[in-house]
Amino acid sequence: MSSPGLEPIPEIDILWITAGLSCDGDTIAMTGATQPSVEDIVLGGLPGIPKVNLHNPFLARENGDEFLKPFYQAADGQGSPFILVIEGSIPNENNKSEGYWASLGTDDKTGQPITTCEWIDRLAPHAWAIVAAGTCAAYGGIHAMAGNPTDCMGLPDYLGWDWKSRAGVPIVCVPGCPVQPDNFTETLLYLLYVAAGHAPKIPLDDQLRPTWLFGSTLHEGCDRGGYYEQAQFAEQYGDRTCIVKLGCWGPVVQCNVGKRGWMAGIGGCPNVGGICIGCTMPGFPDKFMPFMNQPPGSLLSSNAIASYGATIRALRRFSQSSMNKEPAWRNRRGKQATQSPGSPPPVSEGH
Ligand code: SF4
Ligand code: SF4
Ligand code: SF4
Repeated sequence: MSSPGLEPIPEIDILWITAGLSCDGDTIAMTGATQPSVEDIVLGGLPGIPKVNLHNPFLARENGDEFLKPFYQAADGQGSPFILVIEGSIPNENNKSEGYWASLGTDDKTGQPITTCEWIDRLAPHAWAIVAAGTCAAYGGIHAMAGNPTDCMGLPDYLGWDWKSRAGVPIVCVPGCPVQPDNFTETLLYLLYVAAGHAPKIPLDDQLRPTWLFGSTLHEGCDRGGYYEQAQFAEQYGDRTCIVKLGCWGPVVQCNVGKRGWMAGIGGCPNVGGICIGCTMPGFPDKFMPFMNQPPGSLLSSNAIASYGATIRALRRFSQSSMNKEPAWRNRRGKQATQSPGSPPPVSEGH
């Protein structure tokens, strides 16, 4: 079933910019994906999707101008339809009198760096879809913590939460710090099936996350859930029981890593004894700190197991709703923050 109004696309570019405020961890994580793998996607191993040309600075054989060529073409509205992937948070380039926060390549006419914001401004109007890879690109993440000088934000705050591509596709956010590998490649695969005319529009929640990946809490799929129910709580790391008292935020965090594992079904934070610090959530990291403290409300949960039910669930929903909101200083919902909407200087090929 194809999405209404979308023509099937035989070939598509993936233009991946890691030059947000980024540690490049999402690209590195993606190389561990298995369902599907990056190789499956780019080598034609999956039937029914368009031919995919991936342009990611870490994985490309080309460099310099040769690497940037498809980006310049796309910015000029030429070349194949493309999915723009942004990794890293988007800085506010207007909050200082000189200098820049983030860039990719150099403008040959001015000799100046081409800022990441400029690339987004130029590419977004031509993109078939835009995907935010990781929590930084989705909601600001680590770099948008209180007191940061860059005033950075996620893509929906930058382009507008109601932004849609020409093909009618909203921004797709795949949070995680880094993103769980298969969550990212599976989302990409879904979009490729949409592009090929074989899937309906992608289902997203109000934080623009794919609903089938982020619809449940970590706790709901955690292997340690039985210990929680029996009120068996670890007092130190290395214990096999529930680690809520060590700081696990799983009961209110929307993440599938407990069920899915990390690579090929193996690993994943609580499965290997790591507390959940809420890295997929819009409120991360500020609303989850300090990480190593017992989350507020967990004592109530553990002491009230016998009466566990509607009251606890209501309290959890309240916490979850708060964690699903960005901190006030970076919440620009309804206030589009694009640096130069519609009128950026042309991006010319660098040398
Ligand atoms: Fe790095 Fe995490 Fe930001 Fe991804 S979301 S760029 S892994 S800090
Ligand atoms: Fe829930 Fe965390 Fe305990 Fe797992 S370890 S059962 S997610 S509180
Ligand atoms: Fe992040 Fe928690 Fe999921 Fe681990 S379990 S990936 S810390 S949200």
